[in-house]
Amino acid sequence: MKTLTVSVVTPDGPVLEDQFSMISCKAESGELGILPNHIPLVAPLSISAVRLKRENDVEKLAITGGFLEVRPDKVTILAQSAEKPEDIDVQRAREAKERAENRLQAKQDHIDFHRAELALKRAMNRLDVVQ
Ligand code: ATP
Repeated sequence: MKTLTVSVVTPDGPVLEDQFSMISCKAESGELGILPNHIPLVAPLSISAVRLKRENDVEKLAITGGFLEVRPDKVTILAQSAEKPEDIDVQRAREAKERAENRLQAKQDHIDFHRAELALKRAMNRLDVVQ
């Protein structure tokens, strides 16, 4: 089976580099499915789950935005953060979700709603990936 190298890097360092048969992710323009020999491409990514498929299993990562670079034999994801399910602190994500929800519900001028919405998306994405 044909594979491509997937490398995921954050400001804290490399998170993963391995061979996979397919990668699915959510670009800002919509869902992308990348197979080996895909045409070269650069795309901004949403706060979302990345799915990495091997012949018999699928790995998931929670990523917070960043960029995808596709070359025929290699996909690189540069993300602000990227966590494997086993590295996600569920309690921390639940607390972050609750904080963000409270901020979004508060009708106060000093609340930055866009920031709270992004925090809520990050927390929900992490909780989704651990499920
Ligand atoms: P929090 O409010 O809990 O810090 P956040 O969404 O603001 O959450 P980020 O700015 O996205 O956090 O991430 C900061 C760093 O903390 C990154 O290295 C990220 O991987 C890590 N991180 C954030 N939340 C979690 C979590 N629930 N489990 C594991 N690592 C996390």
